[in-house]
Amino acid sequence: MPSPVTVDRTVPYFPGATVLGYPRIGPGRQLKKALEAFWSGRSEVDDLQVSLEKLRMETRRHLADLGLTFDDGAIPLDFSPYDHVLDAAVMLGAVPERFAHVVDAAGRVGPDGYFALARGDGERAPLELTKWFDSNYHYLVPEIGPGTPIRFADDRLVRDFLQAAADGDTVRPVVVGPLTFLLLSKPAEGSPKGFHPLDRLDDVLAAYADLLRAFGDAGAPWVQLDEPALVVDTWDVPRERVLAALSRGLETLAGDLARPARPALFLAAPYGDLGDALPLVADSHVEAVGLDLVRGPLPRPEVLRRLAGKVVVGGVVDGRNVWRTDLERALDLLQRLSDGIGEGARVGVSTSCSLLHVPHDASRERRLGLSLRPALAFADQKVEEVQILARGLALGAGSVRAELAAAGQARDARTRLPGVRRDDVAARVAALTEPDLARAPYEERSAAQAATLRLPALPTTTIGSFPQTAELRRARVALKKHDLDREGYERVVREEIARVVRLQEELGLDVLVHGEPERNDMVQFFAEQLDGFAVTDHGWVQSYGSRCTRPPILWGDVARRAPMTLPWTAYAASLTDRPVKAVVTGPVTMLAWSFVRDDQPLAETAQQVALALRDEIADLQDAGIRIVQVDEPALRELLPLRRADREEYLAWAVRAFRVATAVAGRDTQVHTHLCYSEFGDILDAIDAMDADVTSIEAARSRMEILPGLRAAGFCRGVGPGVYDIHSPRVPTTEEVAGLLTAALAAVPAGQLWVNPDCGLKTRSFEEATAALTNLVQAARAVRATL
Ligand code: GLN
Ligand code: ZN
Repeated sequence: MPSPVTVDRTVPYFPGATVLGYPRIGPGRQLKKALEAFWSGRSEVDDLQVSLEKLRMETRRHLADLGLTFDDGAIPLDFSPYDHVLDAAVMLGAVPERFAHVVDAAGRVGPDGYFALARGDGERAPLELTKWFDSNYHYLVPEIGPGTPIRFADDRLVRDFLQAAADGDTVRPVVVGPLTFLLLSKPAEGSPKGFHPLDRLDDVLAAYADLLRAFGDAGAPWVQLDEPALVVDTWDVPRERVLAALSRGLETLAGDLARPARPALFLAAPYGDLGDALPLVADSHVEAVGLDLVRGPLPRPEVLRRLAGKVVVGGVVDGRNVWRTDLERALDLLQRLSDGIGEGARVGVSTSCSLLHVPHDASRERRLGLSLRPALAFADQKVEEVQILARGLALGAGSVRAELAAAGQARDARTRLPGVRRDDVAARVAALTEPDLARAPYEERSAAQAATLRLPALPTTTIGSFPQTAELRRARVALKKHDLDREGYERVVREEIARVVRLQEELGLDVLVHGEPERNDMVQFFAEQLDGFAVTDHGWVQSYGSRCTRPPILWGDVARRAPMTLPWTAYAASLTDRPVKAVVTGPVTMLAWSFVRDDQPLAETAQQVALALRDEIADLQDAGIRIVQVDEPALRELLPLRRADREEYLAWAVRAFRVATAVAGRDTQVHTHLCYSEFGDILDAIDAMDADVTSIEAARSRMEILPGLRAAGFCRGVGPGVYDIHSPRVPTTEEVAGLLTAALAAVPAGQLWVNPDCGLKTRSFEEATAALTNLVQAARAVRATL
């Protein structure tokens, strides 16, 4: 039986308003600049440390200027020099054996070791980078085995806290919770079969207890432990095991370790619904719990009542999107939360998750115009929103009437903007019928395509992009600054296309691409040309480490104004006799890497984007292009975190793909490209997309995906990547041939394609040429054995 919760009088006051985290890159991308200066040798370790502390200081002071207060721990310290999961691994000294040397005798990891873990050091591969929950942020995957050292080793997090304290700023440290840490880890190489990182729970909990004691000694009033893993029910261990681990964690860290030896604990669960984990948290000794009320529902009344005695932090401001909050609705939700908890309820107001996923400040977006900007809330605007809501909750809605009205008006005005609802677009979506989604049977298509394309067995191709030269980048900058006119820029692009076509012919590739030189980014390029999307000037968000992206904002009904990629593809095709494959970005990926509208279901928006792409594909086909690839690298990223929600998502995602592609006649070959993830749990959906050829990331996993795909009934063309383009390493002919032979064990020769894992834009021409030479040679060698 859980022990009854008593209100601990020594618990510090919890702020009325806070945020779970704030963008870490800095409004001027200071983090990126500091890191890149250090990595390139332009600055020393000391300069780096100074820049990082300056950024931390400016961030906390900025949050204070925006109205959050230091004394009560309202200001989070969630900074990371690269990634917060890596920070937790380093804190625990839990580095893979190949990096054992980066931990010094005192247990600390210096900057060089830290960045070696993140980026490799030439000899040693870095930790694997993968998507953080259903977002486009990437974290580094810790490797935990039975013998991995785990203790409270590196106290950087505590030192950062003390550094702020020395300036008189009391902040609330944010740390990845122990369960989330272990569930995001993978077994270290050489772990015995059946080993799961969760087997190391007790060691991790002991280390976290030491960390909490150290924060206690340092005088931290609150520590925030983020446990988003609890909202996911699709881990590779049964839910009961996750819940048992949670109970044990709560007992060890909140119960056995009592205040004042530790700070008050704020357990936050962003990205969804805690579900059956919430009662366990309610019955524990943590002092505060954070609920994501944007994605999750208000808990049931009987659970809510059990939360009395704790601070309950309502995450009602969406940390994943950029729209102003419906403050009236949010305040009502908070009120119901408070009423549900009952007598003595202590409710705080926060964001649904860290603001890591949104840009800094909407007021800087001058170009977005007076129409859209008032409807936007980036991080700084959201910091204001939580405070308005906290005031409304404390003093009554009347005290914030003007603010609620202003937010409501801005939201209403946005729905009335011309272009938000378009009858022509709605009519097209409504008119779609099943025949619009169906292509001829695969057997007929495949025969027709074989006759028109006349490709050899094991055809070779690439995924689309070729390296972007310095000249191209310069031309793009010059175009933006009006130093180069459109015509001049297009000339540079055409020259590049011609060069890439020639190169591919020389290399002996069978299906050519135009190389995508005209694209700054695979989503932004299309967003700039589609009605309904806006692009920002300063809207950077961290993708990983120093890498930032600028997601477009999808605000209105989507339609194509004019052909987008046709002129470039047609130009490439005019230069060669070989088939040229057009490449467009698919509907799901367009949504996943944009901020999406919140006034209509995503499924609806996806069909609109799909129809715009359908028009493009029809034009390409009319121009004589016989191969079209629709990239969906983000298909897996949007897969819901709860099993029950997955079917619905996959249904509309697959439908959108088919809306876009079913316009292709039987002799137009439709390709898709998938990467950046594990595909084991979406094989049926991949099959249902009905693409003629699917190229898929596979080099690092050595073709493991193929047997599963076949077992799922997939019988069409497949191009498992045989070259890991993420690494500068050039694969040898023998290696590629080995992978192809392995693939042939699972795929009939008539269906196998030969291609790299992904586009080549991050590689140099030298690397790409060498790798493709070997790839073509390997294909020829294996072809000869058929
Ligand atoms: N066609 C794109 C390219 O080659 C695909 C990129 C991706 O999958 N992320 O760059
Ligand atoms: Zn890819």
